[in-house]
Amino acid sequence: MNKHVTNFNEIILPLSREIDREIAGDIEKESVFVSPQIDRIIVSEDLKSAKLIARDGANMEEVADKAKRFLDVMVKQVSGFEIKVFVDIKRKDTGPYQIGVNDGLVERGWMHDYGKGQVAYSGPVLKLAQLINEKAGELYKKAYNATDGHFPAMIDADTLHKCGYFDSHPNAVTFVGNVVEDFDAIEEFRRANSCSEGALLPQPEHIHIDGMCLNPAACFPCYPTLKGKTYLTGECFTWMGRVFRYESRNINGLDRLYEFNVRELVFVGTEEYVRECRAKALPIVEEMATFFDIDCQVQTATDPFFATVSAAKKFWQAAQEVKNEIKIPALGNDGSTKMLACGSINLHGNFFGKRFEFYCANGEPAQTGCVGLGIERWVLAAFTQHGFEPHRWPEAVRNRIFS
Ligand code: ATP
Ligand code: ZN
Ligand code: MG
Repeated sequence: MNKHVTNFNEIILPLSREIDREIAGDIEKESVFVSPQIDRIIVSEDLKSAKLIARDGANMEEVADKAKRFLDVMVKQVSGFEIKVFVDIKRKDTGPYQIGVNDGLVERGWMHDYGKGQVAYSGPVLKLAQLINEKAGELYKKAYNATDGHFPAMIDADTLHKCGYFDSHPNAVTFVGNVVEDFDAIEEFRRANSCSEGALLPQPEHIHIDGMCLNPAACFPCYPTLKGKTYLTGECFTWMGRVFRYESRNINGLDRLYEFNVRELVFVGTEEYVRECRAKALPIVEEMATFFDIDCQVQTATDPFFATVSAAKKFWQAAQEVKNEIKIPALGNDGSTKMLACGSINLHGNFFGKRFEFYCANGEPAQTGCVGLGIERWVLAAFTQHGFEPHRWPEAVRNRIFS
């Protein structure tokens, strides 16, 4: 790759091949993890080069080299797998999509944005979030007779490691730190803060990270509870999981939070049982979309893996068709339509069965699969498609959320 300098802090980097829009989207999204000295990488219209925008004072040689290595691995992604659509629901509401939903919710006092990917909500937003959770719970009970559960929001590094998370999404992990158990270090921290203007964090050498993390994928915390179990057919579990992903500068309103909620359903058992469970998820998504009256599709998809393993893992996922995504159209900040990933339906094979030691009656590790609905994204999508006027909402939903 050659590079030529345009602006003072911009460099154009030619790509080694022409890519497609999907890969371009991944490059732009993942570019926040390339270097703290890089603001963004933006792919050109013709999809043949990328513009690196560096921060003031950046060492341009260094960032260009890092960006080149990032782009080299990202362009290796194989795309063009046929996207299969399994569900395609059209809403009845004929009103326009509402632009600026995040700001609109804040203006109405229904949402408070803390600015770092965390939100507080109340009123119609809270009631809608609760209704989405409740409706999914009801449907899971009816279709799967799923057992309710509750799991911690923190997860230890060994469990996350077993789940393969550090290998696939190392950039999204959050470690919890504590002040070292040292009288002087704790006192220094206390004194520094007792009369300071803002918070003063402990010195880095006084913080220890003992391996506690914030849970980054709803289904992980349930697997340790399955150790030693044997399944003749299978079993389903469901709960509301609190999920944390470090999304860096990509955070944006309800669509990309640091901390969000996922209505999770996990199925465990024989291959046949797990496949049947996955098939039953499709009519449930249809029922949810019809109840909330929203345009909605379910289609084959892949995960946004970390750059260096992205090509291989995406290829495997696409070829096996193990991930389906619930896509609900919404509007970007500039008013353009974008498909929001509001949930996923996944097959894991016997990966977790092997690692966490739960089995089928024949002694083989059991299979698992999961369905995760991102509650805040459903809220955003529903407000985008019905706006703020109660009369446009389906009656059953309106009566619950605006009363
Ligand atoms: P994306 O590609 O948009 O980052 P994802 O593929 O990482 O999404 P999954 O790992 O399938 O998402 O997570 C399950 C669901 O959790 C998603 O379908 C989405 O609804 C929700 N979700 C994921 N990341 C976020 C986030 N940062 N903020 C809010 N909801 C999220
Ligand atoms: Zn899962
Ligand atoms: Mg993600």
